[in-house]
Amino acid sequence: MDIHEYQAKEVLSNFGVAVPEGALAYSPEQAAYRARELGGEKWIVKAQVHAGGRGKAGGVKLCDSDVEIHEACEDMFGKKLVTHQTGADGKGIYRVYVEAAVPIEREIYLGLVLDRSSQRVMIVASGEGGMEIEDISAEKPDSIVRAIVEPAVGLRDFQCRQIAFKLGIEPGLVQQMVRTLQGCYRAFTELDATMVEINPLVVTGDNRLLALDAKMTFDDNALFRHPQIAELRDKSQEDPREARAADRGLSYVGLEGNIGCIVNGAGLAMATMDTIKLAGGEPANFLDIGGGATPERVAKAFRLVMSDKNVQAILVNIFAGINRCDWVAEGVVQALREVEVDVPVIVRLAGTNVEEGQKILAQSGLPIIRASTLMEAAERSVGAWRNDLSQGVKVRAVS
Ligand code: ADP
Ligand code: MG
Repeated sequence: MDIHEYQAKEVLSNFGVAVPEGALAYSPEQAAYRARELGGEKWIVKAQVHAGGRGKAGGVKLCDSDVEIHEACEDMFGKKLVTHQTGADGKGIYRVYVEAAVPIEREIYLGLVLDRSSQRVMIVASGEGGMEIEDISAEKPDSIVRAIVEPAVGLRDFQCRQIAFKLGIEPGLVQQMVRTLQGCYRAFTELDATMVEINPLVVTGDNRLLALDAKMTFDDNALFRHPQIAELRDKSQEDPREARAADRGLSYVGLEGNIGCIVNGAGLAMATMDTIKLAGGEPANFLDIGGGATPERVAKAFRLVMSDKNVQAILVNIFAGINRCDWVAEGVVQALREVEVDVPVIVRLAGTNVEEGQKILAQSGLPIIRASTLMEAAERSVGAWRNDLSQGVKVRAVS
């Protein structure tokens, strides 16, 4: 789960990371009022969306009057911000963060990630942070500093000093850098984060080290341990299809194609998507109904897939180990009777109670296209979607 910049700043500041003064606003008037409360002469108005690259996309604006704050906000509220990280649809702006503008001497990049090859937390830093960090890492990969944290002993101060020296941080600020790194590491481990990023971490004109931007991502599976973090979820920033699925206990990943997939198990979902591609189609989603799927759960999955307007065929591919093919078949029949499904439905069942499952499908009288192997199922789905299969009769809602 991602959180907003202003939330990440609050979390990190509780762990000793220094951040500029700022305030949240839900309207242009409130933003101007907040700026007056903060005092000073220059402010930065920042769109709060779950994505980086806001600066280059017009989501971060320097203002030096009430009028400018109003104008900056008018350009943001209710609009979608499209950055290189949001995809073409962009993300809606419903909150802005107003911050005192800080005089920047130097911008540093700092990130903490889970490094899968070493199975450790890795600190990644660069002396040339800011909005061009992607270019720097591509053009001057050697300028990136990396350090791995040994979990048994945790992050040691000497490692932090080493990073500070490599970045060329002046001696007077090294202690502050140690505090910042330790704070990020503690926040990362204690809150079960999977990513902490400060870009830029700046040296200010008056020689302070401040986090001007902050991003944090948390491990969804550990959120139950951190209700105060789980509360920060902002559904307006998530793919609505995925948010609806998560609320129903289904794992769903929305994709760009038009063949909806209802599958059990992530491995089978991957194989199904690969096979659809091999057969010349494009999956519209990845929906894992999990083990022990009841007919109700299958029906829920159908509702969810049908709510995606791109879906032009649905492939149900179940390998029943813990699951039971007869339950899944009942779920499919129930779904087709309850949900308006006006696209071809292809079902491939294998495993426990497969004969009973096939019987239920056959006796239902519904024009369900059946397949016995994965390849056949994928080919029939693609064929039905292209409407060039003789069996590709459209299923109409039966109530
Ligand atoms: P993003 O990474 O989404 O583009 P940032 O928060 O990093 O957004 O802001 C973009 C740039 O705007 C920063 O690299 C920094 O140069 C500038 N900036 C951000 N916040 C402030 C601030 N409070 N004072 C001065 N400059 C800022
Ligand atoms: Mg940034």
